Amino acid sequence: MNRDFLSIVGELNLAKKVLVVGHIMPDGDDISSVLSATLGLQKLGKEVLAGIDWRIPWYFYEFDETNIIKGYDEVINSGFEPDFMLIVDASSPDRIGRFQESLGKVRTAVVDHHGTNTLFGTLNWVDTRFGSTAQMVLRINTELGVPYDERLATINLMGIATDTGFFRYSNADETVFADATKLVSMGGKAYLVSRIFENKRIEQFKLLSTMEEHIRTENDGQIVYSYLSKEDYESNNCTEDDSGGFVGELRSIQGVELAIFFSEYEKNEVHISFRSKDWFDCSRLAVLLGGGGHPRAAGCTLKGELSVIVEQVIREAKLMFNTQLEAVKNI
Ligand code: 5GP
Ligand code: MN
Repeated sequence: MNRDFLSIVGELNLAKKVLVVGHIMPDGDDISSVLSATLGLQKLGKEVLAGIDWRIPWYFYEFDETNIIKGYDEVINSGFEPDFMLIVDASSPDRIGRFQESLGKVRTAVVDHHGTNTLFGTLNWVDTRFGSTAQMVLRINTELGVPYDERLATINLMGIATDTGFFRYSNADETVFADATKLVSMGGKAYLVSRIFENKRIEQFKLLSTMEEHIRTENDGQIVYSYLSKEDYESNNCTEDDSGGFVGELRSIQGVELAIFFSEYEKNEVHISFRSKDWFDCSRLAVLLGGGGHPRAAGCTLKGELSVIVEQVIREAKLMFNTQLEAVKNI
């Protein structure tokens, strides 16, 4: 077993007060990992607080347990003084928002599966072979002897399901299916997980149609991109939470290798999602632009005018696409 994994389990065993922290713009794997670690440690009788320095998308509240996750101010104002901080699914300090301020002040473990991880904890268990961080939390909980019930198993399953696109992406390997089987055998319910995403508001379909109107292609349709401006969200009575999954729709288009979605979540603040199908390494493009992620799914955030950002990013994307294409051809 990995040395850092064993050290993290050892320190968690001894810890009495643990702060579990997730990343900004949280996704299903992050929420699942935060909740699974928090509920698991609570079952062992520890005092545990869960914190994320970002608003949590409304559809995750389908699981009541999501309510235990506190915002940054709430954690700080609670006066909670953890003896250990467990950070999940975050690849660099900026990804945990203001919780960065606790780094260096308390012993910290980073548990993550991103290849772009900067190893910013006291202990770092980073393994890109895992399709989801939720599987790593499952291993920590198992080693700690956490008893699983139907709720914990379902919540833990949610992260594996979401980060593998419900077992459809290339990261859905044998370990993913084995871990999912284990969680289902402990009471995990896949149909409850899918409820989170089969609970759409009509407005989201209208937002999708606005996004579709903005679709553009490059490189003979191998690159596809679209955007939603702050005004687009507002005129459709939506927020950026309502466009989760849109970049996946773009990637599903025939002939597309690289899909890019620009989301202006605040005026002049744009989150960019990259997804690829077979060979393009999105994480290299994201890192170039100050972000990170995985080869087939990565992202970054840029400040500035939306149209300018779109133009700049597409220029960089085309350059890198052609460079990587040449490299692929030469193999
Ligand atoms: P998404 O496009 O869904 O926001 O993110 C796709 C993947 O890239 C996720 O694994 C996410 O953690 C990572 N990612 C997205 N945005 C950023 C970013 O700004 N910085 C870093 N380091 N990773 C990001
Ligand atoms: Mn993840």
